[in-house]
Amino acid sequence: LSELSTIKQRIGQMQSRLMTARLAAYHAAHMLDDGFDCDAELFSAKLTNVESSLDSARDAMEIHAAHALSADSPIQRFLRDAHHIYAPAGTSDVQRLRLAEVATGSYKGSWSRRFADELRSSGAMLRRVGGG
Ligand SMILES: Cc1cc2nc3c(=O)[nH]c(=O)nc-3n(C[C@H](O)[C@H](O)[C@H](O)COP(=O)(O)OP(=O)(O)OC[C@H]3O[C@@H](n4cnc5c(N)ncnc54)[C@H](O)[C@@H]3O)c2cc1C
Repeated sequence: LSELSTIKQRIGQMQSRLMTARLAAYHAAHMLDDGFDCDAELFSAKLTNVESSLDSARDAMEIHAAHALSADSPIQRFLRDAHHIYAPAGTSDVQRLRLAEVATGSYKGSWSRRFADELRSSGAMLRRVGGG
C-alpha cells in the first residue's frame, strides 16, 4: 500500500500533522513549566492535537479500508480513542471560541498564570521540606 502515490500523500500529511501537533504541545508545556501566561498556546495545542488525531485516524481507516473495520485491528481503536479526547477540557468549538477571544482582545482568563503560581509555590514548599 505504501508504494501507491495517493497513499504516500496521506502518510506524508499524517507525518506533518504529527510533527506540528507535537511542537504545539511541547511549546505550551514548556511555557507552562517556565511560569509564562500560555492559555492561548494551551487552547491551540489542544485544538491542533485533537483535530490532527481525528484526521489522521480517519486517514488510517481509509488507507486500510475494509481491514481497518475488523475488531482485531488497532486502527478502529485509534479512531475511537481520537474521539474520546475531543470533549474533555473543552471541545474544539470551545477552543476556537477562546482563541477568537484571544485574537480580538476580549479574552479575560489567566488560568495558566494561576496554575504556574500554584506549581511554583508547591515546588518551593517541596524543596523546603526536602531541605533543597
Ligand atoms: C473521558 C472524559 C473525561 C473528562 N474529564 C473531565 C475532568 O477531569 N474534569 C472536568 O471538569 N470535566 C471532564 N470531562 C467533561 C468535559 O470537560 C466535558 O465533556 C466538556 O467540557 C464538554 O461538555 P459536554 O460534554 O457537556 O458537552 P456540551 O457542553 O453540552 O457541548 C455539546 C456541543 O455543543 C457545543 N458547545 C458547547 N458550548 C458551546 C458554546 N458556548 N459555543 C459553541 N458551541 C458550544 C460543543 O462544542 C458540542 O459540540 C470529561 C469528559 C470526558 C468524555
